[in-house]
Amino acid sequence: MIIVVSGPGGVGKGTVVRELLDRDPTLWLSRSWTTRDRRPGEDPDAYHFVTRAEFDAHVDRGGFLEWVDFLDYRQGTPHPEPPEGCDVVLEIDIVGAATVSSLVEDPLCLFIDAPSPEEQQARLEGRGDPPERVATRMTKAVEERRLARELGAEFVINDRVDQAVADLEELIRRRRDADHPASS
Ligand code: 5GP
Repeated sequence: MIIVVSGPGGVGKGTVVRELLDRDPTLWLSRSWTTRDRRPGEDPDAYHFVTRAEFDAHVDRGGFLEWVDFLDYRQGTPHPEPPEGCDVVLEIDIVGAATVSSLVEDPLCLFIDAPSPEEQQARLEGRGDPPERVATRMTKAVEERRLARELGAEFVINDRVDQAVADLEELIRRRRDADHPASS
């Protein structure tokens, strides 16, 4: 199964996904490539940080399942190679989620959102994004929510991380049960 986790910037997707992976060893997180700089304090392993030339060469080799121009940089998902028995988690934007939905059969599309736009803005500011980037991401979030609804993604509100993780686990459990009714 491919689980696609999307959501606007600053809603705490990264934290929720990390916690989800800690709790379920049968989930495998794909590491994306990016051409943007690493943020202050960001884990060096958060992405495969590359130059634009390296990224584009990988596009030309057919190395990505999907990739997007996101604001002023590029992000891409390499073809997933999960260990045996693991489900794949892609933490990607909603445009990437729509592409993946057109390429693989019936992925589970999950959309994490903040409790309110005000809270989203406060979280973006809190992680050190410059004011102009905060404004761009707030505007982008409106369109992202629209696309998520169009795609039929399941919305999960990240008010408290433990509750958001529990909600995601429940949605994943339901899908696994539906795919493998005998094993439940
Ligand atoms: P950030 O630059 O803030 O880490 O990520 C910006 C957005 O790009 C987030 O919504 C993140 O989930 C998404 N993203 C990260 N990697 C990929 C990828 O490989 N493909 C796509 N389509 N989006 C990605």
